[in-house]
Amino acid sequence: MTITSRPDADQGTFERLAVRGGSYVAGQWLTSSEEPLLAVHDPADGQLVTELPSAGAALTTAAVEAAAAAYPAWSALSAAERGVPLRRAHELLVERADELALVMTREQGKPLAEARSEVLWGAEYLLWYAEEIRRSQGVTVPGDGPGQRIEVRRRPRGVVACITPWNFPSAMLLRKLAPALAAGNTVVAKPAEQTPLSAIKIFEVLEDAGLPAGVANLVCGDPVVVGDALCGAPQVRHISFTGSTEVGRMLLARGAAQLKKVTVELGGVAPFIVFADADLELAVERLMAAKYANAGQSCVAPNRLLVQDEAAAEFTERLCARVSSLQVGRGTNEGTDVGPLIESAAVDKVRRHLADALAGGGRVLAGGTPPAGLDEGRFFTPTVVTDVARDALVLREETFGPLLPLEQFTDEPAALAAANASDSGLGAYVFTRDLGRTHRVAEALEYGMVAVNDASFGYVQAPFGGIKHSGDGREGGQDGLREYQDLQYLNINF
Ligand code: ADP
Repeated sequence: MTITSRPDADQGTFERLAVRGGSYVAGQWLTSSEEPLLAVHDPADGQLVTELPSAGAALTTAAVEAAAAAYPAWSALSAAERGVPLRRAHELLVERADELALVMTREQGKPLAEARSEVLWGAEYLLWYAEEIRRSQGVTVPGDGPGQRIEVRRRPRGVVACITPWNFPSAMLLRKLAPALAAGNTVVAKPAEQTPLSAIKIFEVLEDAGLPAGVANLVCGDPVVVGDALCGAPQVRHISFTGSTEVGRMLLARGAAQLKKVTVELGGVAPFIVFADADLELAVERLMAAKYANAGQSCVAPNRLLVQDEAAAEFTERLCARVSSLQVGRGTNEGTDVGPLIESAAVDKVRRHLADALAGGGRVLAGGTPPAGLDEGRFFTPTVVTDVARDALVLREETFGPLLPLEQFTDEPAALAAANASDSGLGAYVFTRDLGRTHRVAEALEYGMVAVNDASFGYVQAPFGGIKHSGDGREGGQDGLREYQDLQYLNINF
């Protein structure tokens, strides 16, 4: 079906957006529905981009049944055979990266170049896991008697439900689909209601890549209705979730009641620690990418900037110069560094954090003014504040926007105490030239991931994930594959 995009004031009229349907079940696209339409809006201006037929409980149940029916044949294929459509899907995503990037920017807002890199990054998971599954090995353990062998093997689990967020609508979905499918599971995916189009485009690719019908199914609809149907379905053995702590907690509880495996990747309040011996130019450079990409809407975006006293003046000067030079605007405009936030409620939260910081004695170092010529209900000027009270919201809660509080610290123990004073434990960053300190500090940080002199965690070969309230389970690397496999041991006697 062809969905008409509304004309755009700055850019002229966007091309018509052709998608094959609203949901994909048992190899069929759904083009009409009894359910209310799912509206997708452009975060830059709130205009309606499309309306899609949405999936309700009945279609979600049909998707689970399709996945269960496809499981025996898909799981019985060899690892090499399963790799064929996954590798082809990788190729198609690379070919269609520009098209998918534009779709993502229209529904999510991020700058086009970031959207394109995200499509390519997500695609890499398909290639990596298509190969890695061929190396998925078990072990043979000596038995107690001469004729006994104990063989430990890894096997797929069955139907996996993948529930994904809007901030990285392509990569978060592919990071789940690729290992789940490579391992031999079948899938029902539910993307965020704000960004279903990126998921639909990925499923078009899977269809064109020759993935057998029913192996991967997509349902776009109301989160509570679809979520309830997924949680209630006995065939769903595993729920893999990325999103808010609140929903993750609910899914963990519901999964526990039904003895489903639930893996959750939740939020973080990432500290970014700069020691006085660090390469300050490098630290600023990396901070810009980590904090202001995706307008700060990332679970590993630095939420607290901790700078050692001796370096504070120079670092602040360099940082403020860079932050003030960021271009805020539509993601489709050339030269935009920071796009709109996903919706007005997201802007309200950042504003609340800024107002609370200022009310508690904080002062603005950079930004802090409304975005010139832009809708201040949708865009937020990149801002740095300092002298923030210890109990300020911006230090305790995930801001998920382009606002950063700068704090000073005296020494290593003080930096560690500040960084570890959090329930979250996802990503942390350390900048130093001292190798001894690198090990001392990195190992003492209560975080699932620590980047030293770097600022990214999204590597296909590495286990992304957090500890404490930031989640349970890993995505990426060998550990990411194992999340989608059960162990079986065979006690063999001859
Ligand atoms: P955010 O607050 O960042 O939007 P959410 O946790 O609400 O994060 O969303 C992450 C994903 O969880 C989305 O796909 C969303 O639709 C889904 N979701 C939200 N509520 C529920 C629910 N009750 N059951 C299942 N999935 C849900």
